[in-house]
Amino acid sequence: MHPRTKTTWHIHMPVGYLLKLSDKRLMETITHPGGADGARAELRDMLSKGITNLVAGPCDNQNPDGSCAGHSDKEAS
Ligand SMILES: [Zn+2]
Repeated sequence: MHPRTKTTWHIHMPVGYLLKLSDKRLMETITHPGGADGARAELRDMLSKGITNLVAGPCDNQNPDGSCAGHSDKEAS
Protein backbone atom coordinates (compact mmCIF):
# COMPACT_ATOMS: atom_id res chain seq x y z
CA MET A 1 0.00 0.00 0.00
CA HIS A 2 2.73 2.44 -0.93
CA PRO A 3 1.82 3.84 -4.32
CA ARG A 4 4.68 5.49 -6.11
CA THR A 5 2.46 8.17 -7.48
CA LYS A 6 0.61 10.56 -5.28
CA THR A 7 -2.32 12.73 -6.20
CA THR A 8 -2.36 16.26 -4.95
CA TRP A 9 -5.20 18.73 -5.01
CA HIS A 10 -5.30 22.48 -4.92
CA ILE A 11 -7.39 23.80 -2.10
CA HIS A 12 -10.57 25.53 -3.14
CA MET A 13 -13.14 27.74 -1.52
CA PRO A 14 -16.86 27.77 -2.20
CA VAL A 15 -17.81 30.85 -4.21
CA GLY A 16 -20.99 31.28 -2.17
CA TYR A 17 -18.92 31.47 1.01
CA LEU A 18 -16.63 34.14 -0.46
CA LEU A 19 -19.61 36.25 -1.55
CA LYS A 20 -20.85 36.35 2.05
CA LEU A 21 -17.61 37.75 3.46
CA SER A 22 -17.23 41.42 4.33
CA ASP A 23 -15.07 43.52 2.02
CA LYS A 24 -12.23 43.36 4.52
CA ARG A 25 -12.38 39.61 5.00
CA LEU A 26 -12.78 39.04 1.26
CA MET A 27 -9.64 41.03 0.52
CA GLU A 28 -7.78 39.14 3.23
CA THR A 29 -8.79 35.88 1.59
CA ILE A 30 -8.30 36.60 -2.09
CA THR A 31 -6.67 39.36 -4.10
CA HIS A 32 -8.30 40.98 -7.09
CA PRO A 33 -7.18 44.00 -9.12
CA GLY A 34 -10.71 45.38 -8.96
CA GLY A 35 -10.85 45.23 -5.17
CA ALA A 36 -13.77 43.72 -3.28
CA ASP A 37 -16.35 45.01 -5.79
CA GLY A 38 -14.40 43.61 -8.73
CA ALA A 39 -13.88 40.32 -6.96
CA ARG A 40 -17.60 40.01 -6.19
CA ALA A 41 -18.52 40.80 -9.78
CA GLU A 42 -16.20 38.05 -10.98
CA LEU A 43 -17.45 35.59 -8.36
CA ARG A 44 -21.06 36.24 -9.41
CA ASP A 45 -20.04 35.76 -13.02
CA MET A 46 -18.49 32.41 -12.08
CA LEU A 47 -21.68 31.34 -10.30
CA SER A 48 -23.73 32.27 -13.37
CA LYS A 49 -21.58 29.83 -15.35
CA GLY A 50 -22.11 27.05 -12.82
CA ILE A 51 -18.68 27.44 -11.24
CA THR A 52 -19.22 27.11 -7.52
CA ASN A 53 -15.61 26.76 -6.36
CA LEU A 54 -12.58 29.00 -6.58
CA VAL A 55 -9.27 27.17 -6.64
CA ALA A 56 -6.35 28.76 -4.83
CA GLY A 57 -3.34 28.96 -7.09
CA PRO A 58 -2.69 28.04 -10.71
CA CYS A 59 -4.60 24.89 -11.57
CA ASP A 60 -4.66 23.30 -15.00
CA ASN A 61 -7.04 20.46 -14.20
CA GLN A 62 -10.36 21.70 -12.93
CA ASN A 63 -13.74 20.06 -12.61
CA PRO A 64 -16.68 21.79 -14.32
CA ASP A 65 -17.64 23.24 -10.93
CA GLY A 66 -14.26 24.93 -10.62
CA SER A 67 -12.74 22.66 -8.01
CA CYS A 68 -9.41 20.94 -8.57
CA ALA A 69 -9.69 17.53 -10.23
CA GLY A 70 -6.34 16.41 -8.83
CA HIS A 71 -2.82 16.13 -10.16
CA SER A 72 -0.79 12.97 -10.11
CA ASP A 73 2.64 13.73 -8.84
CA LYS A 74 4.94 11.51 -10.88
CA GLU A 75 8.02 10.58 -8.90
CA ALA A 76 8.94 14.12 -8.10
CA SER A 77 12.45 13.79 -6.76
ZN1 LIG B 1 -5.31 21.71 -9.33
